[in-house]
Amino acid sequence: MKYGYLIDMDGVIYRENQLIPGATDFVSALLATGTPFLFLTNNSAPTAEDLAVRLRHLGVHGLSAKHFYTSAMNTADFLSETHPNCTAFVVGEGGLVAALHEHRIANDAISPDYVVIGEGAATTDKLTKAHELIEKGARLLATNPDNWCPVSSQKTRPGAGALAAFLEASTGRRAYYLGKPNGYMFQRARRKLADSLSKVEQVVMIGDTMETDIRGAVESGLLGYLVLTGSTKIEDVGDYVYQPARILQSVAELTREVLTGEPATNPVENGAGTTRGSAQRHGSRHQTDVLALHKPRPRPAMTK
Ligand SMILES: [Mg+2]
Repeated sequence: MKYGYLIDMDGVIYRENQLIPGATDFVSALLATGTPFLFLTNNSAPTAEDLAVRLRHLGVHGLSAKHFYTSAMNTADFLSETHPNCTAFVVGEGGLVAALHEHRIANDAISPDYVVIGEGAATTDKLTKAHELIEKGARLLATNPDNWCPVSSQKTRPGAGALAAFLEASTGRRAYYLGKPNGYMFQRARRKLADSLSKVEQVVMIGDTMETDIRGAVESGLLGYLVLTGSTKIEDVGDYVYQPARILQSVAELTREVLTGEPATNPVENGAGTTRGSAQRHGSRHQTDVLALHKPRPRPAMTK
């Protein structure tokens, strides 16, 4: 069977600016065999070109903009498909601004159809302006539901989900969240994979976060492979209703499979049998989970 891969980045390929051991060989194997793949990230701040450069600096070579799909690109795809010629007031970084510009979605600070929230670039002035525009009728859209993002093992920063939540609270309006785990992210990524590369019979999503990567894979009919190099501990997998098709220690376990086209001889554990984890549950960071709003907040699991 010919597989194509959608691959999360933070916690799968690198963590805190350190490559995960074996990740370079895995990407090299994908490139050498012409295996269709696309990196999929909820981070709306960088452009695809920025991400290719970032990975090159980390030692992963041979990648270009066509290998990346961000939640900012997903947001631009969504708006241009569902509302051509719409206008938007944007609170976000270069990756989001560039993606909207590429789709000819004009910036509008007077009477926009949408207020679009991404990572970063928020100031009190911008949030106040966004609040006013939403009260005047603009619809609220966020590139992704992540409330926070890792900076290092000791440090996080607010994510697009937290900024959108601020405006939800101030305006009483609910945001719509694109990016993982929204099926639109996976549907468009799958289409991009099929358009640009050879025939794919089955698409695999490789990720480290249950709530985004694995949930989105399950809901979109993809195979979800969980790697344990990021935000999820093996003992917590059994707590989720949705389960990964496979659990891998890291992407390094897939390199031989990509090179030979043969499945691993050691079948990797399926998460369905995993026992329930510790009583101390982390609250969900996703606005899509209504119950999360009522949970106490120990720091939720998070990576991109
Ligand atoms: Mg991740």
